[in-house]
Amino acid sequence: MHNPNFVIGRERQLRNLINHLGKNDIAIAACVGVDPDIYHPEQGLPNELALARCAGCPARLACLALALRTEDPEARAGWYGGLGPADRDNVAAHLRLDTPEPPPPDRALEAARLRTAGWTVNTIATHLGCSRRTVQRYLRAAA
Ligand code: SF4
Repeated sequence: MHNPNFVIGRERQLRNLINHLGKNDIAIAACVGVDPDIYHPEQGLPNELALARCAGCPARLACLALALRTEDPEARAGWYGGLGPADRDNVAAHLRLDTPEPPPPDRALEAARLRTAGWTVNTIATHLGCSRRTVQRYLRAAA
């Protein structure tokens, strides 16, 4: 059930969602109204019904994109798009998300300026509308 193969052939679409995810992309989720803790079990897998819901979810790719866009690759948790942390590692490697394009210099400088002013990485990410990972990339680029 938790098979990342549904990504194959949809890499461009997934990349586009990672870079330009909109509210409407997730609004059609099959799990609207479902307790989100179901997808964050303390141990093991979510129950079969929860994963079956993901398999047929019209927002599955967007859900996966949301995770790949926002989570810290070193601390993946929970299930998104029906995939657990190890599967998302594989998808990230498949898409080569660890070798991102250089950030636009103005955003990198803005991130560095805010960091120097004492802002946290989280706060900068919220301010710039990007992930913490992206902010960390900006800060490395501006160093
Ligand atoms: S794929 Fe994501 S949005 Fe869709 S049902 Fe599963 S957890 Fe919810």
